[in-house]
Amino acid sequence: MTTAAAYSISAPDGGFEKTTIERRELGPHDVLIDVKYAGICHSDIHTARNEWRGTQYPCVPGHEIAGLVAAVGPEVTRHKVGDRVGVGCMVDSCGSCEACLAGEESYCTGGVTWTYNSAVSEEIQPGGVTLGGYSTQVVVTENFVLSIPEGIGLDVAAPLLCAGITLFSPLRHWNAGPGKRVAIIGMGGLGHIGVKIAAALGAEVTVLSHSLSKREDGLRLGAQHYYVTSDKQTFKDLRGTFDLIINTVSANLPMDDYMRLLRLDGSLVILGLPDKPLAVQPFTIAAQRRSLAGSMIGGIAQTQEMLNFCSEHGIGAEIEVISADGIDAAYERVLASDVRYRFVIDTATM
Ligand code: NAP
Ligand code: ZN
Repeated sequence: MTTAAAYSISAPDGGFEKTTIERRELGPHDVLIDVKYAGICHSDIHTARNEWRGTQYPCVPGHEIAGLVAAVGPEVTRHKVGDRVGVGCMVDSCGSCEACLAGEESYCTGGVTWTYNSAVSEEIQPGGVTLGGYSTQVVVTENFVLSIPEGIGLDVAAPLLCAGITLFSPLRHWNAGPGKRVAIIGMGGLGHIGVKIAAALGAEVTVLSHSLSKREDGLRLGAQHYYVTSDKQTFKDLRGTFDLIINTVSANLPMDDYMRLLRLDGSLVILGLPDKPLAVQPFTIAAQRRSLAGSMIGGIAQTQEMLNFCSEHGIGAEIEVISADGIDAAYERVLASDVRYRFVIDTATM
């Protein structure tokens, strides 16, 4: 067993505190990773505050992990000591359902093991609940450990492990590319990486933000157009425009207004996961044969493809590195949409 430093939260309205946790003995296929950087995803906040219910306390969030391999089990072939590696939202899946066999592990129906807050046996994680990347070390089975190409710094790579794949996967699935008009709603952690990836794929990218303050950044990151959604005129001007709209917003939006921005056969894909139901008029969907869809992270092979793509195109997250004692303050700033554009914890400060 390995003892690691970590930051955990013990109640929905609590704050983060320094603690020590146990990591399992290395099994034959396990990789021990020295975590260097851990991104703060809005999902961490939903979970830490029990907004999706079912949070097991004490909780150690963190599923945007980048670090170096410290040790490997005897049968590990994919990684070796010293390798630059990453871990995202999943640390295991059933491996035998239709989704797993298709390489779509994030849609596993046999039971995904999430990087944190998943019930597991004591042998997998002492305490019986997975603990995430706000920690100096993590043990993960080799098939769920990604290689981070040399071209990307570990700090700016960390957010790609969740935000990067969560955007890359639907952009690929709905064929974002030359000749396609793509809108990204919300320029936060997910959204800003979506702008970069969609632009690199060759799409014509529009940012739909509720604030004008990110306009310059949006255009710098690769968007051709930037509109503010607090201005009613935006919805008149852009009616029937987009082939694909990706909604990254963590709060409920008036969906009809956004669905009407789709052209014939366009799709609006939900990524943001507020805890309240969405409402949309059937007429709005039927009128232009529009689709309302959703997408959840992406598979392991596609995550590696995304990391390679980002390396080739010089894409990393725009980050603000913080020390571990600044997690509570960072959460407040994410909630206020005051993040440019991802907080990343430097685990050397643990
Ligand atoms: P984030 O950094 O907080 O970004 C969300 C952005 O949404 C904000 O920057 C803001 O952008 C906009 N926004 C926030 N509140 C708003 C409001 N009340 N009205 C209008 N716009 C608002 O969060 P994130 O880490 O990108 O995560 C976003 C959501 O995706 C969360 O719900 C998270 O749980 C979910 N998520 C889903 C998946 C998946 O696989 N589907 C994966 C990861 C995360 P502007 O200021 O530009 O408007
Ligand atoms: Zn995430």
